[in-house]
Amino acid sequence: MEFDLIILGGGLNGLGTARDAALRGLRVLVLEKGDLGGGASGSGSGWLRGGPRAFAAGAGPGDDPLAAGEAGVLEAIAPHLVSRVPFLRPFASRDEGDALASGAPRLGAEALAALEPGLSPGLLGALAHDDRAVDGPRLCVANARSARDHGAEVRPWTEAREVVRQDGRVVGVRWLDALTGESGLARAPAVLDATGAWAPGLARRNGLALRLRPGKGVHLVLAGRLTTHALAFGAVDGRALFLAPRGGETWLGATEGGFYGDPDDVEATQDEVAYLLEGAAALLPAVREARATRAVAGPRASRFEWGPGEEALSRGHALLDHAAEGAAGLLSLVGGQLSTARAQAEAATDAVLRALGRPAVACRTREVALPGGETPADAAALAAAHGIAPLVAARLVARQGALAGEVLRLADDDPRLGLLLCREEGILAAEVVHACRHELVRRLRDLRTRCRLAVGGCGGLDCARAAAQLAGRELGWDAERVRAELADLLEVGWRERRAVLDGAQLAQEELLRGAHWGVGR
Ligand SMILES: Cc1cc2nc3c(=O)[nH]c(=O)nc-3n(C[C@H](O)[C@H](O)[C@H](O)COP(=O)(O)OP(=O)(O)OC[C@H]3O[C@@H](n4cnc5c(N)ncnc54)[C@H](O)[C@@H]3O)c2cc1C
Repeated sequence: MEFDLIILGGGLNGLGTARDAALRGLRVLVLEKGDLGGGASGSGSGWLRGGPRAFAAGAGPGDDPLAAGEAGVLEAIAPHLVSRVPFLRPFASRDEGDALASGAPRLGAEALAALEPGLSPGLLGALAHDDRAVDGPRLCVANARSARDHGAEVRPWTEAREVVRQDGRVVGVRWLDALTGESGLARAPAVLDATGAWAPGLARRNGLALRLRPGKGVHLVLAGRLTTHALAFGAVDGRALFLAPRGGETWLGATEGGFYGDPDDVEATQDEVAYLLEGAAALLPAVREARATRAVAGPRASRFEWGPGEEALSRGHALLDHAAEGAAGLLSLVGGQLSTARAQAEAATDAVLRALGRPAVACRTREVALPGGETPADAAALAAAHGIAPLVAARLVARQGALAGEVLRLADDDPRLGLLLCREEGILAAEVVHACRHELVRRLRDLRTRCRLAVGGCGGLDCARAAAQLAGRELGWDAERVRAELADLLEVGWRERRAVLDGAQLAQEELLRGAHWGVGR
């Protein structure tokens, strides 16, 4: 296995750089130890223009020209993955209103109550801001698919075990396939470490030094759309939080705190859930009545700084060159944001070309559409042409863009694939099959990010078994593997659910799981 560049980590920094480098003609290998986007990239809030932070004093949607420009690029190359989100930041007193960003348009109390009638009484008005949100997990998949279309090899569920060096230069990476146990050495004169929160541990194992400010963020997911607009508000300690409708759910988040444990162990806790609910209930009392379906935790990796609290840490990226440590050719891409990931990948690819001693090649990731972003897709026309419900077509288009037609043609050829596996998320059997064939699916749980399999309120009650059979047929699993994949999928869902259950409910669930565990053994 010979490459020009080996990228460690299949988050957006790694996959975005893989796409860029492949488009510039490099032979690229990506090693990802779990699923694509399994780290921060699949668990972030996805705001492209600041989210709740855009209302902070001295801030404003236009204050970060890089993020604003990149939001526009993303809308052009992957319009289906970006949605426009009108944000409101209510305030209860003149002082509170005056302390917020000064440039944003303001609404009075009456207009605010008309827009969001469920808010607590006594609010004086709100600031408004037009944000954009991106589907992080699908953006990772689109980048991986694009990188592969341009010649890169992308290997999910394959861990980088050791960066191999000779005479002060990197020469390759030893890898281990987590599913088959196969291992090997891939050779390349350049390696980019894009392992996010895992980077310090990986560096330590390779005798190198890399410091970050590791953190953790949690979102609480509530069933149903509780508001029409996204709402920004302050938590009990003044931290900027948001509550926003997404698909058929409401997302509430995100906590921020330092996390010095193993990033593989990042999980939401009950007190984080209580903290989020307390903050949101002060603004929108109905959240107390809403059904919490899961809590999503993600590992954050910010550049090292001594002093500032989590919220004040820089969100900028850094490219570290390890040549002085006897590892010429090894670069680390650390920190950054989802919103600016394309620009981060461009800078990383420029640096890789320099490290390889290659002439500069122009970056094309601004112009070349991501898969599905080539042409706008018309959900209503697809629904009519393929005889499916408009909501199912709309959900499919939001995930697949122009590739939705490719998915639906599978169902035209084999009507059994027109079966609707999940009414809530609009998942067709054809989408599962399409993901297995084209989207680097190796495990059943990978379908959580490909088509939202089993992430909704029902936890996969209707769809999980049927999807396991379909995936098994596509990927050549025997009955035992199908059963193991199904158990694994349910276990991942359970880990996201247990933090949202309260004491007695949790104890009963645990008991039930224990009883079922013994059945049939
Ligand atoms: C709660 C939260 C909210 C956020 N909100 C926003 C937001 O609103 N807007 C925004 O722009 N950004 C946001 N971010 C930040 C954004 O998500 C991150 O900047 C971005 O996803 C980082 O991508 P990455 O590729 O560097 O890291 P990751 O996505 O974490 O990817 C690193 C990958 O490396 C893999 N890996 C680790 N070790 C190995 C190994 N040895 N071999 C192979 N693979 C390995 C991991 O499995 C992981 O998939 C948020 C982050 C969090 C956690």
